[in-house]
Amino acid sequence: MKVHRNVSLKQFSYWRVGGTADFIFVVNSIFELREALDFLHDLNLPYLIIGNTSNLLFSSSGVRGGLIKLGPKFSYCDFEHQVVTVGSGIFLPYFVRQCVNKGLSGVEHLIGVPATLGGAVYMNAGSQRKSLSENIISIDSIDANGNLITRYESDCMFSYRDSIFQSKSELILSAKIKLETKNVSLIRRECLSILKSRNEKFPRKKPSCGSVFISNPEMYDTYGPPGKIIEDVGLKGFKIGGASISSQHANFIVNDGEATDIDILNLIAIAINKVKSETGFKLKSEAKYVSEDCMLINADVAALSLIK
Ligand SMILES: Cc1cc2nc3c(=O)[nH]c(=O)nc-3n(C[C@H](O)[C@H](O)[C@H](O)COP(=O)(O)OP(=O)(O)OC[C@H]3O[C@@H](n4cnc5c(N)ncnc54)[C@H](O)[C@@H]3O)c2cc1C
Repeated sequence: MKVHRNVSLKQFSYWRVGGTADFIFVVNSIFELREALDFLHDLNLPYLIIGNTSNLLFSSSGVRGGLIKLGPKFSYCDFEHQVVTVGSGIFLPYFVRQCVNKGLSGVEHLIGVPATLGGAVYMNAGSQRKSLSENIISIDSIDANGNLITRYESDCMFSYRDSIFQSKSELILSAKIKLETKNVSLIRRECLSILKSRNEKFPRKKPSCGSVFISNPEMYDTYGPPGKIIEDVGLKGFKIGGASISSQHANFIVNDGEATDIDILNLIAIAINKVKSETGFKLKSEAKYVSEDCMLINADVAALSLIK
């Protein structure tokens, strides 16, 4: 197990925001996970499982606790005909490429999502109006008492950017995923076209967490997706401190270099309040905030409590 102390989250996290984390553990087995949890328990410190941090905003005051990341031993994919068993530490774009190379189709929409498989299961990630859950057969996880649990897709309570794991303290270990055979060059072309369209639409040069707000079907039918609405209420390009609502896509908040958690939470709060007053709809965030005491809170809730 690798233990990193006093890690700068500004350097480590995807959004490049955050103070110092007391500990980051990189575990390569359930035994090492147990050791990390025991160590933190003895110090009376809380913990949070992290993937690639691509959906997380860390407190600029740092995190008093331990972040637990799955190491290379959890990064595997075992193919058996059209079913693949995938370790939850695997980097999603790498996993999609493995499927493409084998002529297996179904997860192409995830090619540009900079996540681990575990984070993608937790969030039920997706794009192109698809979600990972559509291809899930089952998920293996482990609870805080060390019990191994297998859940079939129908028991995972998947919905838009949500899963049962958001209301459990479990570590997602692996997923069984079903795919279908297709011509390799067709799948490859589909992936390239998805990447091209993402590169044109989304800001790439500055750190972000992808879409900050989730879409709501009723709001979509009346006003459109969150990015369009935020643009329509005049907030595209709006800047606070070191962060701004992207001038390329208004559902992205980018770190212009020195963003703090408060800059980003303020932008989230302003977007929620302006959209609410002009449309009546309350935006909900996809991004999650990690507080100094290592609590995971929806970023919209954190943002609104900040400005009360
Ligand atoms: C440029 C960019 C583009 C993006 N595009 C998309 C997109 O098209 N579609 C989309 O859905 N999302 C997108 N996202 C958001 C993000 O990639 C997803 O939410 C993703 O699922 C997060 O995965 P992660 O591994 O980074 O998890 P993290 O951000 O590290 O964690 C997210 C949550 O998952 C939990 N978690 C992570 N791993 C585990 C595990 N093994 N066991 C239990 N819990 C775990 C964490 O505790 C946390 O609550 C984008 C982000 C960026 C930066």
